[in-house]
Amino acid sequence: MQNEIRIGSDAGAAAWIERDMAVVWHGFTQMECYGRNAPLIVERAEGRELIDVDGRRYLDAISSLWVTTLGHRVPELDAALRDQIDRVAHSTLLGNGNRVVIELAEALAQVVPMDQPHFLFAADGASAVEQSLKIAFQYWRNIGHGQGRDTYLAFGEAYHGDTVGGLSVGGGGFGTEVFQPLRFPVLRAPSFARKDALREAARMVETHAQRLAAVIVEPMVQGAAGMLIAPAGDFLQLQQACERTGVLLICDEVATGFGRTGSLFAAEQCGLRPDLMCLGKGITGGYLPMSASVANRRVYEAFLGPDLSERTFYHGHSYGGNALAAAVALRHLSLLKQWNVLDNVRARSAQLEASLRASERLRAAARDIRVAGLMCAIELAGDDAQRRLARRTCAAMVRRGVLARSLGSNVILVPPLTVTAAEIERIVATLAAALGDVLDEVAVLDEAGA
Ligand SMILES: *Cc1c(COP(=O)(O)O)cnc(C)c1O
Repeated sequence: MQNEIRIGSDAGAAAWIERDMAVVWHGFTQMECYGRNAPLIVERAEGRELIDVDGRRYLDAISSLWVTTLGHRVPELDAALRDQIDRVAHSTLLGNGNRVVIELAEALAQVVPMDQPHFLFAADGASAVEQSLKIAFQYWRNIGHGQGRDTYLAFGEAYHGDTVGGLSVGGGGFGTEVFQPLRFPVLRAPSFARKDALREAARMVETHAQRLAAVIVEPMVQGAAGMLIAPAGDFLQLQQACERTGVLLICDEVATGFGRTGSLFAAEQCGLRPDLMCLGKGITGGYLPMSASVANRRVYEAFLGPDLSERTFYHGHSYGGNALAAAVALRHLSLLKQWNVLDNVRARSAQLEASLRASERLRAAARDIRVAGLMCAIELAGDDAQRRLARRTCAAMVRRGVLARSLGSNVILVPPLTVTAAEIERIVATLAAALGDVLDEVAVLDEAGA
């Protein structure tokens, strides 16, 4: 099969890219340039490698935008999906239940760092954030606070998804300026780039408590900001400020959840016990779209009241609690434990950081190297919109068979949680070689320009 010769219009990536551009609009992508940026047209996968329509293989070092945990085509997850499809693919959770969704929520309830949690399922991380913001807002109305308590504290450079609510609590920047008139105002703490970010946030909670419905924070790592990391110990002051003032704490674990940072949830390392938590990305191991807002007992109970009363949370997505996704998520959660995946994350994380810092070329070219679990950014020095060093380095990595993606002047590495020691070395060696290619080109251009 692997060497089969294709004929007609199906042959080769170039033809597929043409067909792609004719009908597909890619997210976060300038379509004018899409075809010239050598996109991969994936046909299938094996383990941690994606295979394109020409049979070329790429190590997936971005876990398909941070969602893949155990790899692609995991036999156990495939089996869970097949099993469930013989029962039912989907039935609505609006007013009715579904057996496998109950089983999943029971299993998740055992592991989230929360008091008597309830799970409101959706399909995307942004929807989980949106739900959580609305729940926090209505919570105060339900307990009789008609006035005040109607704004949020969020962090600079935060990313919480692309819906209007998510954009509003997000730190803005790249590509969001056009939506400024739609974004509702929030109180803004510093980004994790500032050493006093959490202290300042805690101070703002104390000062503005009467206006605040909730604080929303990405525990430990601001992923989309370029893996900005705050020391785990710093978060305790935020937790305590919320406890003292009653301001709800929302942890957005969409990126950090399910083992990414070396614990099942980053909140655990940070000593956080949130009132609301947003889950997404890795929840199904990267198989199917699923997300959830998790509410603790305090929040959940504020919504209990008579049938059809205004205390009800009138919100719910068509595909929330999809049974296929739930079956995969349930099996995935047990595999994380059974395979000791967290041990691998911690060992490979230490190896990745040591290996990056040991590379002379990377040390010379990097302004900063940030690693938390298997979330990593190599921030390149002297990068700008003209040079596009990080972007070109990632393109050179792809040509060398490792799928990477840049974020501003950062090369981002987010390998699957089951990545092996040999694959870590391959990723670092490929990055160093790719960077070499690009710096050589730049040197030639600089000379020509001088
Ligand atoms: C990716 C992400 C989101 C949005 O999730 P989608 O599934 O892309 O909507 C929200 N918050 C964080 C921290 C994320 O990394």
